[in-house]
Amino acid sequence: MTEQDFIAASCADDYDPDSMPVDKARHFIRAYLTPVDTQQCVPLRDALGRVLAADILSPCNVPNHDNAAMDGYAISGADIPTEGTASLRVIGTAFAGKPFEGAITRGECVRIMTGAVMPQGADTVLMQEHVRAEEDRIVFGPGARPGQNRRRAGEDLRLGQVVLPAGHLMRPADLGLVASLGIGEVRVFRRLRVAFFSTGDELASIGQPLAPGQVYDSNRYTLYGMLARLGVDIIDMGVVRDDPALLEQALLEASRCADVIFTSGGVSVGEADYMKALLNKLGQVVFWKIAMKPGRPLAYGKIGSAHYFGLPGNPVSVMVTFYQFVREALLVLMGQAHPRPLPLLSVTCTSPIKKAPGRTEFQRGILSQDADGVWTVRVTGDQGSGILRSMSEANCFIVLPEACGNVEPGATVQVQLFDGIV
Ligand code: AMP
Ligand code: MG
Repeated sequence: MTEQDFIAASCADDYDPDSMPVDKARHFIRAYLTPVDTQQCVPLRDALGRVLAADILSPCNVPNHDNAAMDGYAISGADIPTEGTASLRVIGTAFAGKPFEGAITRGECVRIMTGAVMPQGADTVLMQEHVRAEEDRIVFGPGARPGQNRRRAGEDLRLGQVVLPAGHLMRPADLGLVASLGIGEVRVFRRLRVAFFSTGDELASIGQPLAPGQVYDSNRYTLYGMLARLGVDIIDMGVVRDDPALLEQALLEASRCADVIFTSGGVSVGEADYMKALLNKLGQVVFWKIAMKPGRPLAYGKIGSAHYFGLPGNPVSVMVTFYQFVREALLVLMGQAHPRPLPLLSVTCTSPIKKAPGRTEFQRGILSQDADGVWTVRVTGDQGSGILRSMSEANCFIVLPEACGNVEPGATVQVQLFDGIV
C-alpha cells in the first residue's frame, strides 16, 4: 500500500451517503499492519493469551507407548473366538505407571487398567464387563475386534510433528498440550503496548463532581476491559481537553511509548477539523465515514511508528468499532498471522427491526432459549449509540449486512457472540 493509496482512501471519506464499506476499511487497515518482532521465552503458564513466535515440535511420541483405553484384560487378538467361548489364564496385572514386565503368549492375558502400557504380545483390551472372571482365568465369547481399546503410541502427537505453529494464540488446551510434551518454556512475541485517552471538554473523571452538561468518561473503562481481555500492556493517559496543543502533546507522548494509540471522541463531523489538521501534521491519518451503524466516524493511520485509531466518542460506537476493526488489527500486530474471523451464526429473530439498506448494522441482541429449547435472538430495546446499557444487557451483535432492509419477526439473522468458552 503506497502513500497514493492512503490519499485515495482519505478522499473517499468525503463521498457520502455511500461512505466506506466496513470490509473495505478492514482491508485497508490490514495492509498497514506489521506484527511486533521482538521475541521472548516465557514459562509455559505465562504464555496464555500470547502468540507463539516459533513452531513447537513434538520431542516425543504422545502417548509414549501403546496403552489401554479401558479397564479390562490385555489379550492377543488371535485368541478371540469366532464361535463358542475362549478361556485365558490371567498371568499378571498392568497398572498405569506400573507396567507388567513379562510377555503374554497364546492362551494368556493380563489384567490391565486404563492408561497402562500394553504388555508384550497383547494388542487388544477386552472390557471387563465383557468377560466372566473365574479364579485365575477369564472366559469370553466372540464379538471383540483385534486391536480394540488400545491407544497407539503417537496417536495424539508424533515425534517431530509441528504441534502448534508460530503465530498461534495460546489457549488453555494448548498449555496442557505443550505440558504433555514435557516442554516448560515457550518462545512468544512480546506484548503490545497500547496507549489511549479520551477527548472532550464535557468529560469528567471519576472522583470529580459533575458540572452541568458534563458526563463521566466511560470509554476509558470499556476500552480498558476490551484491551485487558486481549492481553496487551495498557497505558491509560486520562482525559484530554478539546485543545489542539494539549492533544498534540498527548499524541506525541503516546507515539513515543506505545505500539498502538487509541483516542475516543473528536473524529465526528464538526469536531474532526482540528483533529484532522493535527493528525496531518503529526503523521498519516485517514478519516472515514464508515457505512455502518453505530460507529460511523473512524480515523486510522500512523503517528511515527505507532498505529493510530481515532474511535468515535459515543460509548456504544467505541465498542462496536473496537470489535469490528481494532480487535483483529491488534491480533495481527500481536503476531497472529491470520486471525480467524468471528463466527456468524444464523438464528431466528423474534423482534422486528427497522433498517435502511446501504450500511452494515450491529444491533445489540439477546440470544436465549425459547420454551421449546430453540435458540432465538431479540434486540435489547433502544439502540441509540449512547446507550451503553444496550451492550451490557446484550450477549451478541445482530449483524445486518449492508444490503439488508427491515427485518420481520421470524426472519433469520446472523449473530456474533460476545462470549467464547475458552
Ligand atoms: P464526539 O465523538 O466527541 O462528538 O462524542 C460523541 C458523544 O459521545 C457525545 O455525546 C460525547 O459526550 C460522548 N462521549 C465522548 N467521549 C466520551 C467518553 N469518553 N465517555 C462517555 N461519553 C463520551
Ligand atoms: Mg467530543
